[in-house]
Amino acid sequence: MPLRFYNTLTQEVEDFAPMDGRTVRMYTCGPTVYHYVHIGNLRTFTFQDILRRWLRARGFQLNHVMNITDVEDKIIRSAMQQGKSLNEYTAVYEQAFIEDTKTLRLEAPERLVRATEHIDEMVEAIGTLSDKGFTYESDGSIYYRISKFAGYGKLSHLDVSGIMAGARVDVDEYEKADARDFVLWKARKGDEPFWDTKIGPGRPGWHIECSVMAMKYLGETLDIHAGGIDLAFPHHENEIAQSEGMTGKQFVRLWLHSEHLIVEGQKMSKSLGNFFTLRDLTEQGYQPEAIRYLLASVPYRKKLNFTMDGLRAAATSIDRLRNFKLRVDTEKFADGHNEAIAARSRAALEQFEKSLDDDLNTAEALAAIFEYIRDANSAMDSGEFRGGNCADANAVLSRFDSIFDVLTATVAESGISDAEVDAFIKERQDARKARNFKRSDEIRAELLERGVVLEDTKEGVRWKRK
Ligand code: AMP
Ligand code: ZN
Repeated sequence: MPLRFYNTLTQEVEDFAPMDGRTVRMYTCGPTVYHYVHIGNLRTFTFQDILRRWLRARGFQLNHVMNITDVEDKIIRSAMQQGKSLNEYTAVYEQAFIEDTKTLRLEAPERLVRATEHIDEMVEAIGTLSDKGFTYESDGSIYYRISKFAGYGKLSHLDVSGIMAGARVDVDEYEKADARDFVLWKARKGDEPFWDTKIGPGRPGWHIECSVMAMKYLGETLDIHAGGIDLAFPHHENEIAQSEGMTGKQFVRLWLHSEHLIVEGQKMSKSLGNFFTLRDLTEQGYQPEAIRYLLASVPYRKKLNFTMDGLRAAATSIDRLRNFKLRVDTEKFADGHNEAIAARSRAALEQFEKSLDDDLNTAEALAAIFEYIRDANSAMDSGEFRGGNCADANAVLSRFDSIFDVLTATVAESGISDAEVDAFIKERQDARKARNFKRSDEIRAELLERGVVLEDTKEGVRWKRK
């Protein structure tokens, strides 16, 4: 079965391959750096990480650009309140965002680009749109006249026929019911930061930044553009109007939108105040891998209802996976290779891959892995699983982990390394041989204190992180 995705533009599930057959040119809307990102934002970024990894697993190269929105209404308001320059204010949150993505093991895009470093290009783009008759000016601000663009509404499937011509909005975010001419360039206002440019003093609207940076680095037609579902309107609709207005060519072939993470029925959002940051959760002792697992486990087009129980269940699932891995790595199995078990491993891999090919159905992909683990564990208990089958099991686990990336425990900076654990285990064995059980117990206690559990089995000592 080919790799397939649901395209918001066509409202259909379509086969996917990049235009040039090799490299996926992909743009994703990054964070607005006016605060720490919350785990709702991180759900969207985790989906994009799984997407990246699966595209690569399917043999494609990636050219992925993500923007950092570092000039915007909310940023300006907060920076001014704190008497800081835009850059001073946003640098902290940009850095925090990068740290959070590392904690969650999200791969870095090939390019991370800041809006404030592309003001000249935005001014040029607005000039092109004006030359083509898509804009008008009012009080020094420049607006996009949506009635000039025949395709307006095609992404969000909005009927714009009744929309009042000439009515406009200045804010960056608004609802579908308020579809209006939107602002490309905002005239300088009071003490707000501004750029002195040939289209006048002011600052760009939010939508133009993504059109400009996407096309600068990826060309006029992208393979994929992704973001959370709330961005489909107006942000992405406006991006299409701007980009296609400028080039007359299709801007994006495949539009992917991830559903929201919700809490008690409501979208998690900074404005509602119902949010957790990643730091809130890790400070409470939740492992980053459990958070990553939870965010990735619900298929991206379904709402994810966030609960602490869900997070604890994710940690339990990871324990099952790691315990199985530990068994494969440390248990002594009878020699030989059981072909039936090899076939079971191949079937699991196939089911895993088929599920991800099917619009990234992560829930089914995980189910394939857990059913396999259940069967393999029983085969181990009954002695059917042979030494030669370890390679089959490891093939399944490593394919799984190349996408989900939760098997290795995060070691806190103050934590203990694998090599140190091994050295302690060696010392403990020597102590036991010398019948120094006091020292042996001390080592076990010290390791436990540092998050490492030892298990004495008939085949020797196994250990794992708590
Ligand atoms: P922002 O920083 O608000 O521009 O959002 C960054 C990304 O997070 C965008 O792709 C949003 O669509 C997405 N996002 C915002 N809130 C949520 C949520 N509750 N669940 C999932 N994604 C979200
Ligand atoms: Zn964007």
